[in-house]
Amino acid sequence: MPRARDHTLRSLGAGILAAWLTAPAAAHGPVNVFLMVSDGQGFHAVGATTLYRGAPPVYQDFPVKVAVQTHSASQPAGYDPGRMWSDFGWALRGATDSAAAATAMVSGIKVRDGQLNRSPDGRPLRTFFEDASRLGMATGAISSVPFAHATPAAAYAHSMSRNDYPAIAREGILGDWLDVLIGAGHPGHDVNGEPRQPEPGHYDHVGGFSTWQALQTAGGEGWSLVEAREDFEAIAGGRVPAPTRLLGVARAGTTLQADRRRGADPNRPSGVAPNPGVPSLATLVQAGIRVLERGASGFALLVEGGAVDWAAHAHDLPRLIEEQAEFDAAVQAVVDWIEAPDNPAGGWHRNLVIVTGDHETGHLWGPGTYSDHNRNGVYDPAGPDVFHGYRPLEDRGPGHVPGHQFASRGHTGALVPLFARGLGSERFSALVLARDARAVDAYGPTARGFAGDYVDNTAVYRVMTQAISLGDASPGARPHLPAFRAILPVPPG
Ligand SMILES: [Zn+2]
Repeated sequence: MPRARDHTLRSLGAGILAAWLTAPAAAHGPVNVFLMVSDGQGFHAVGATTLYRGAPPVYQDFPVKVAVQTHSASQPAGYDPGRMWSDFGWALRGATDSAAAATAMVSGIKVRDGQLNRSPDGRPLRTFFEDASRLGMATGAISSVPFAHATPAAAYAHSMSRNDYPAIAREGILGDWLDVLIGAGHPGHDVNGEPRQPEPGHYDHVGGFSTWQALQTAGGEGWSLVEAREDFEAIAGGRVPAPTRLLGVARAGTTLQADRRRGADPNRPSGVAPNPGVPSLATLVQAGIRVLERGASGFALLVEGGAVDWAAHAHDLPRLIEEQAEFDAAVQAVVDWIEAPDNPAGGWHRNLVIVTGDHETGHLWGPGTYSDHNRNGVYDPAGPDVFHGYRPLEDRGPGHVPGHQFASRGHTGALVPLFARGLGSERFSALVLARDARAVDAYGPTARGFAGDYVDNTAVYRVMTQAISLGDASPGARPHLPAFRAILPVPPG
């Protein structure tokens, strides 16, 4: 089928866009943007994983480090350092959900909880990834959980309800502009990756039964459907040609690994053997890049580590560490690709990597932060629980899960860390709202290099948009991107 970016010019017909697209080639050349989100990743998710591994993740050395406030339009009051540090229960109230947080990052607009790229009054919001596609860039979304879940779906879907999985999945699958769409949530495999007889609901994450059938039988909508671990690995390793469009559904029912119940493996933080039939998130990312890198105009890729949030909801720090380590390895794979000497699209002058979380989950702190008198794992400020002061995670050495204490089974309004490197990443410093110096001490080694400066999560959209405006047109010939967004509200602040 004709690709969206092949006929974008004809369908838009805008003089200013045509002038730009026919402009001489650029000084920068094509640019690539990687937005990498670990769902539920607060400072201590990174910190706990660092302590277990005995080494920080690659992004700990990125030159740009800011904190991010994450609240949605449902809670317009935003982050408040004074209340955060004086009231342990403050962060428990009114935290964002993943749909609103991801929308803020990819569309630059605060929306209500549960909404995906829809303004509070229901208008569709064009995402950064749609803008990138209209500029001729290849685009993709990859997750360790189903791609119809809120964070990866924010790249491409517009819905008043994040829970409408079949329609959300269909928007990505039946749309004609995404190049890569990969997740877990296979209808024919369970949480352990074993074959199962699907029930009707098992097709929700792949667009429903008929959509799945169409993909199986005809490679529908120009997609190449990839399911087997060895096929992902062959594409990732360059042993087979990358398909034109890659729709990946790894053979696990919900997440790649986070829900598995298998035999023992003492080398894993959880002590549970990994699912053998699914690729790693890093492999999925490498496979996706093989598709995206063939375009001549650069690409934009959203990568989600989806299950840190799930593990934090469950107060399961060993699994949280596994999931964060899986995400960290995917970031490492991206850095390796950018820094490979034989990569013509590599180099930090033409690549932007942003690593962040959409919100904190679990109110994760060190042991002794509060007395949980009723032992429900949640700080009950109105009940008998007593707050003693924010305590750091307790380092028990590499290979040992750090001492810790969860205080919530939900999301919190705490700041989350953002690490950025490459083209245009320095622009975050111009978008700083305020400084929370207390956070630097409270979050320990993970906050090394942070000044406590924080931005709004909509700053992610603005920095990514700025980066692609630095792409392959000659200076002065390129219109400003906001011109494409004239029908949309102006981002706040
Ligand atoms: Zn959650």
